[in-house]
Amino acid sequence: MSARDTIAAIATPPGAGGIGVVRVSGDRAADIARTLLGRTPRVRHAHFATFSDADGPIDHGLLLFFAAPASYTGEDVLELHLHGSMPVLQRLLRHLHVLGARPARAGEFTERAFLNDKLDLAQAEAVADLIAAGSDAAARAAQRSLDGEFSRRVHALTEAVIRTRVWIEAAIDFPDEEIDFLAAPSLRADLDALVASSDALLAAARRGQRLRDGLHVVILGRPNAGKSSLLNALAQSDRAIVTDIAGTTRDLLRETVDLDGIALTLVDTAGLRDEGDAIEREGMRRARAELERADLALLVTDDVHVDADLALLDAAPVTAMRLIVHNKIDVHGGEPRVESRGAATHLWLSAATGAGLDALRVALRTAAGLEANNAGTFSARARHVLALEQAHLHLNLAIAALTDQSAGELAAEELRVVQQHLGDITGVVSSDDLLGRIFADFCIGK
Ligand code: GDP
Ligand code: ZN
Repeated sequence: MSARDTIAAIATPPGAGGIGVVRVSGDRAADIARTLLGRTPRVRHAHFATFSDADGPIDHGLLLFFAAPASYTGEDVLELHLHGSMPVLQRLLRHLHVLGARPARAGEFTERAFLNDKLDLAQAEAVADLIAAGSDAAARAAQRSLDGEFSRRVHALTEAVIRTRVWIEAAIDFPDEEIDFLAAPSLRADLDALVASSDALLAAARRGQRLRDGLHVVILGRPNAGKSSLLNALAQSDRAIVTDIAGTTRDLLRETVDLDGIALTLVDTAGLRDEGDAIEREGMRRARAELERADLALLVTDDVHVDADLALLDAAPVTAMRLIVHNKIDVHGGEPRVESRGAATHLWLSAATGAGLDALRVALRTAAGLEANNAGTFSARARHVLALEQAHLHLNLAIAALTDQSAGELAAEELRVVQQHLGDITGVVSSDDLLGRIFADFCIGK
């Protein structure tokens, strides 16, 4: 382990509290502990002590010392529990500075834990996600990633990729005129199994990312279909303006609705008309851009122009899920109901009376992965999903190289690229630049 300087930070959130914790990590932590306590601390023992600087006593509290490598960072770590007063904690921090500890940067404790192999990169990111979790489900998912559930699945897939790659390379090195090893059914079966596991892992990571980042919903529909009313009903606010004049909601209006802790960003678009004035066309352009980033396209129709409205949905990218809301049943008649038709779910409701709104909430929660059994869900980030998509792509390129051209070397090279993308997730081969960006997102003291 390389020698690093000693860092210190207040680990508890700013403001007053029952206790405040200051954390120290590095080579000087043991010396600092001895100075503060007046004797050598016992490892993992809570010492009650009065902490003093040159001016006299600062506060009394608990001192805990963790010897390397059995600590959060893998270095010598000192935890000081004082009263949760910012002036007290800051005075202690100044004193620690005099004793040789510099202020920690955001995420620096966790960065050291990563550099000392206490956590891999996906686990380190899960620490930040756990701290920032906006819902119980998101917190549980982050906990599972921190536990290494995501990393274990990435490792298992990597191991399988390596085995197949070794097999192909061996087949290239020992060409046999009698048997074509590259055409062996077992190799084909191995590759199919790799695709299946990478598919499953990608789906799980997408669910995990949705839990972390929330569901991004775009509301579509012609003017006066009731998009703004629906937005208001879900948001239970008057943020969106409801009027009787077609095309008044010209701007994209963003509203984040919290449905049981899941953030849903609803975007009300200008009426979907390609003709119209420059402002409307600009609204249309922005709506298309929103659709490309959406997890879910929600079409609102008034049941008069259903077929024309459904045609609008074809503008949505194939990856987005689709919900079709038949609004104003209080006018058109009928009871609230839900129907699955192919890939889309249809709901009949009234934004005005609220009938059927609960079913819509359930449908949105299901789309967010919250209504399903989330027992195995781990948290994931866009960066992980991207890496898995790349891995999946190159896996298919490897198969194509083998089946179409019987090009073993090309297939082996593609599998090497797959391995690299998987390695990016856990940080086997990460650049300093990536690490810097990841840890800068943390709070100070973590
Ligand atoms: P948007 O242009 O799609 O955003 O539509 P608005 O939300 O602005 O609604 C257009 C008009 O339809 C307003 O007068 C709303 O009050 C009315 N409206 C919306 N939803 C319903 C509904 O479920 N029932 C009835 N009767 N009127 C509705
Ligand atoms: Zn509107």
